[in-house]
Parts: sequence; C-alpha cells; structure tokens
Amino acid sequence: MAARALDDLIALLAKLPGLGPRSARRAALHLVKQRETLLRRLAVALTDAADQVRKCSTCGNLDAADPCWICAAAERDDRQICVVEEVDDLWALERSGMFRGRYHVLGGVLSAIDGYGPQDLGIDRLLARVEAHDVGEVILATSATVDGQTTAHYIADRLSATGVSVTRLAHGLPVGGELNYLDDGTLGAAFEARRPVPSTAVDGA
Ligand SMILES: [Zn+2]
Repeated sequence: MAARALDDLIALLAKLPGLGPRSARRAALHLVKQRETLLRRLAVALTDAADQVRKCSTCGNLDAADPCWICAAAERDDRQICVVEEVDDLWALERSGMFRGRYHVLGGVLSAIDGYGPQDLGIDRLLARVEAHDVGEVILATSATVDGQTTAHYIADRLSATGVSVTRLAHGLPVGGELNYLDDGTLGAAFEARRPVPSTAVDGA
C-alpha cells in the first residue's frame, strides 16, 4: 500500500525533537515534493551518519574518527579539560573560539527521575584522564539548572582527591541584556558573582 511508506515517514519524523505530528506531516509532504533534491539526499545523509558517526572513546564527542578530531589535534592544550553536558554544548564553545583545550562530554546530567547515575557520565574516565595527563584545570560548563549544578558539585567532589584546579563558568548578565528583562534567577546569580571594578587612574589625571 502506497500510503504506508508515508505514514512511517511521518511517524518517524514526529519523534524528532521540536516536531509534533502536525509539523511532521508538513515536513513529510515537503520532502516528498522535493524527492530528488531533498528526500533522496537526506536518505543518503542519514545512512552515512548511521554508518560513520561514532562516540569518541576518550571524550564522548561525535566524529567519524576515534579519537575524535579534537582529541587528535596536537596543538590543543592537554592541561585543560572542559566538561559539558552534550555535544551541542561543545559545538557552542568551539564556535566561540574561546577554548583551546580538550573536552569531556557527559552525555547527560545526574538525574534521579531519569535514572541517570555517575557511571553513565563517564566520570571514572574523566578522573583517569586527569591523573594520566597532568591536567591543571577542569572547567565545569554544565547548565545552570538544578540537575546541571548537582552534577557539577558531584564532579568537583570526585576531582578533589586529584588536586586539580576545578573552575566553573560564571553565571550572569547576558551580553547586550537589559537588567529589567532578566529573570530573577539570572539577576540573583549575576549579583552573587559581582567582581571588583579595576581602578583606573582618574585621580590627579
Ligand atoms: Zn575526543
């Protein structure tokens, strides 16, 4: 039956994040109308991704190679490891161009509800890397959510025995953000994280 393939396509598309049944139907129709230019190319891209994309056994990044391109890059700094929740957090940091060290991708956060424990986050693997590579700093870049912060505290506790310096990203005002538009949590965190303003030589000048 011809419609069966379309129903399957819609049912699978509806499982994607951000797509419900209605947007899945729209996407499926769009794909079928663009059979050669989009649908067939997407099918090839999906097969390639399914065959080639692997989790890096060192850091948890996704790549066709293991170790991934970041772990394999000789010019990156072995002495800094940045801990992120998901690969898209790693992508965001890479886009910023701020960080030239290595990563540890947790693949989630500690969560009693989802049954996600320390063994799922590769913490032992992180500890082993810290001890093996003379790492000087572990930067905890988990989300400012309850689970993200719980996870950061847990990792900091586990790392304390190694003597490595543990830092975490500051929470505060977004660049270009106006004070009166901030939610209370962000404003409170920014207030808590206030820093001295370096004095400029105004007197006598
Ligand atoms: Zn890697």
